Order: sequence, then C-alpha cells, then structure tokens
Amino acid sequence: MKYEVVIGLEVHVEMLTGSKLFCSCPNRFVAEPNVNTCPVCLGFPGALPQLNREALQQALRAAVALNCKVALYSYFDRKNYFYPDMPKGYQISQHYIPLGSNGFLDIEDEKGELKQVGIGRVHIEEDAGKLLHEAGGASGGSSMVDYNRAGGPLIEIVSEPDLRSSGEARRYLEKLKSIMQYAGVSDCKMEEGSLRCDANVSLRIPGDQSFGIKTELKNMNSFRAVEKSLDHDIKRQARILDSGEKVVTQTLRWDEDRQETIVMRGKLEAGDYRCFADPELAPIELTAEEVELARQNLPEMAAERARRFVEQYGLPEYDAGVLTASRCLADYFESCLEHFNKPKEVSNWVMGEFSAHLNNAGLEADQASFTPEDMVELLKMIDEQVISGKIAKEVLEKAFVSGKKPRLVVEEEGLLQISDQSELEAIIDRVISENPDTVESYRGGKGKALGHLVGQVMKATRGKANPQLVNELLVKKINS
Ligand SMILES: [Zn+2]
Repeated sequence: MKYEVVIGLEVHVEMLTGSKLFCSCPNRFVAEPNVNTCPVCLGFPGALPQLNREALQQALRAAVALNCKVALYSYFDRKNYFYPDMPKGYQISQHYIPLGSNGFLDIEDEKGELKQVGIGRVHIEEDAGKLLHEAGGASGGSSMVDYNRAGGPLIEIVSEPDLRSSGEARRYLEKLKSIMQYAGVSDCKMEEGSLRCDANVSLRIPGDQSFGIKTELKNMNSFRAVEKSLDHDIKRQARILDSGEKVVTQTLRWDEDRQETIVMRGKLEAGDYRCFADPELAPIELTAEEVELARQNLPEMAAERARRFVEQYGLPEYDAGVLTASRCLADYFESCLEHFNKPKEVSNWVMGEFSAHLNNAGLEADQASFTPEDMVELLKMIDEQVISGKIAKEVLEKAFVSGKKPRLVVEEEGLLQISDQSELEAIIDRVISENPDTVESYRGGKGKALGHLVGQVMKATRGKANPQLVNELLVKKINS
C-alpha cells in the first residue's frame, strides 16, 4: 500500500475497587438492574460526590506502570452532554489536567523490533449507565437504563498516534492489558466491558508531516474485532484516497455480524462538551514521595516474572514468555507448582492442553472450572502411572467441560491404566499370534515392527495399557 497508516487508541479500563468513584455503592455492575445506586451516582440535586481514595491509588499505580509523569496537582472537570445513560447531564472527568501524561509502553513492531509507543494521557473519569433496548426496533420497543455502572471508576488511557498497523494496535492492547492486570488495576475483561477500546485511524503519504483526516472506530468487543475493523477501515480509506476523493471525519461502529464498519455520526468537537472544573470536588494533591512510593510498590510485571521463571524453575525462555503473557495463567502455573514441583511437566500441560481448552472456550485461566488442584491431581495420576499421558488428555478435556474431578472422570469412564501383567500378557499373546509376519520382521532386525505391535496392544486396550510395560513384555516374549 502506498499510504502510511496512523492509529491512536483510546482505552477505558474499569478499575478494581470495592466501591464506585464518588460514592459508596458497590462497584459491581453484573447484578439486578439499578440495585447498586444512590443519590450521588443517580445525580440527585444536592448529593455531594467524594473521591474514592482507593480509586485514586489504582489510577496512580496505572500511571506509574505506564511510565507517566504524574501531576502533583490535578482536578476534575464536568464534561457536559445530554444522554439518558448520564443522569447528571455531565460526566465527571479530568479534561484540563490529566493525572498522568507523557508515558510509554514497549511493543514489537512489524519487523519484530522493539518500539516505544507514547501514552499521551492517563486520566480518571466516571463510567456511564447502560441502555437496554427492548426488541421491536427504534419505533416499537422501549429503552430502559441500568445505572449499576454509572459512577464506576474508570481510567482513560490515550496513546499517541504512534501505531502503524492493525497488528501493532493489537500488540499494544495486549501489552496494556498485561500491564494493567499485573499492576492489579483491572481484570481487563473485554467481553464484560472492563476494557473498552476506541480507535482513531487515518492515512497519509509516507514522509508527510501532517496527519490525514481521521475516522473514529467504536464498538469493538475483542482484540480480534479491533484488528479486523481497523483493517476494514484502512482499506476503505485507501479506496477513497485512490479515487481522488477526501475522507470525511466521522464515527463508525464495527458490526460483528456483517464484519464491516457502519457510520454512526459525525464527530463532536471537544468544544461541544463545554468542560469546566467541577466546583463540588476538591482537587487531587499528591506529594512527590507518594508518587515515588507507588512506583516502588509496583508488583512484578510480565518481563520480570518471565526472567524469574527461567532462573527459579529452569524453564526455557519460550515457556516463561507464554506463561507470563497473562497474569492469571502465570498465577495458575505457580499454584500448580505448590503441590507438584516439576516445573517443566506442569508448564507443558498448562501451555499445551489447558491453554488450548481455554482458547476454545474463550476463558481466562481464573475462569476455568478446571482448577490448579485438578491439574495437580491429573499430573499425579500420570506420575503414579494410574493413567497414561494420552488418556490424561482425554481426562483433562472431560473434566474441563464437565467441572468434575479428574479422578472421578477416570473412575466413571473406566480409564485406569492397565499395569496388571497377567492381563496384559494375555492381550500380548493374542497380538503376537495374530501378527506372525510383523513378529518375523522384528526378529529379522526391523526395529520399527515393534512399534506396530505396541500399537496393536494399545488399540486392544483402548489406550489404557502402560506403554512401557507393553514394550518390555513384548520384547521378552518375542525373544523367548
Ligand atoms: Zn452511588
């Protein structure tokens, strides 16, 4: 393509706090509609908001984790607009002085080299409620509002327009999610709305100093959707520019069913919100010591943890990288080790079968009903030769889906490994008499023939024979 792609991302992250940003309502929006509300978050006249200190600490942690310069003095502004999801008629945000600015995070660029992506600002703001539309279309069904989320504690993280492809945008999001999870700021579950992403995208001729006209993309509910909608809009803009026309500033929404972007509206300019300082809230004042303390108290991040996994557990760098890409997968791995101290074995199963099932189900490690205790139970059964590795995969799958304990699955399905010598000998005798040619070629020096015979025994036992024992017994019998 002859154009250079310019992408900037605006990410909203719902912080993990006990209560909302300016009131003591529980910060839980997966509940019966409107139960977690009070006069403050419903915007009753006269109700006074008060900043949640825990939310401030979380936002501060996010800002330092993203290498931001922290403003020792900042305050809240009212961003005025009318929409039913915002009962006060304005949103409390930080417009003029964000808590954090001039930060960055590192990603790999298209060539696999390290690239620093600028973070323009990190600011605190409150969440809006949620509109629920009844079936019947715009004219027929009615709409209702759930204010459980209204007043929820958000941070908005705005990147500089440093991203040059949809792939870079995706890697930026993955890195951001990892940092927020490791810092304990948010669980960043996109499908539950605790991480939301809007994208600005424009094209220009390489070498141009000014930016092209941008469009804003919304309603992307997964990292995959972000990548796809960016690709879609990049192609659309290139077609417009190729034909000599001009791109129009507008907001588009990604339609997952139609796999295309659809125009929502022309964009509101910043001035339309008439932002001004909120007179009801005290400014945020921090000391340099408080900021420094937050920096020092940052928990271990992915890269450090990966290094530790290599040193402490002797894992290959590849394993350490895969396991620590998600904090909860790394936590899962370490929980398993507490009761089964064979790191490489645990790593193989966590990265392999377990992760594959997580991906299929679209779950994070901490959402799976197959717990670290279950994994340990499974690995111990392999270790004690109660089941073979092959059967263990089957057990994991069944336990993962049903939520049953692995041992119960083994019992119910009759999957115990056959290590009983006399039982195996009878099967082996039969296999030997049924395959005289194979036996002969093994005697004649063809080592491979043995594998075939072992396979026959495994087949006859539906994979439950102890393969090592089968091997030994076969060789002994053929040579006797
Ligand atoms: Zn409230």
